[in-house]
Amino acid sequence: MDTSVRDKIIEHLKGKWKDAKCPMCNEAIWEVVSTIYSPPQFAKGGVVLGGEVIPTVPVVCTNCGFTAWVNAMVAGILDQKEDAQ
Ligand SMILES: [Zn+2]
Repeated sequence: MDTSVRDKIIEHLKGKWKDAKCPMCNEAIWEVVSTIYSPPQFAKGGVVLGGEVIPTVPVVCTNCGFTAWVNAMVAGILDQKEDAQ
């Protein structure tokens, strides 16, 4: 578990997420996952190996399971130049 990822996302959300209510159930009980994920690029009916990726951190509503994906580069967790290589 990388608690620094979790802590940085929480700090980012404190400044950016104005209304933290879940869009699906209207509760505000969120859990930040401490792992960065990257969905693969899709093209021509399949996954592009070595293709462009968007590193994201899931933030999960623990009431209904709705998941918000926060871009790790925009949130300042990853350096856009250094970590893109
Ligand atoms: Zn919810």
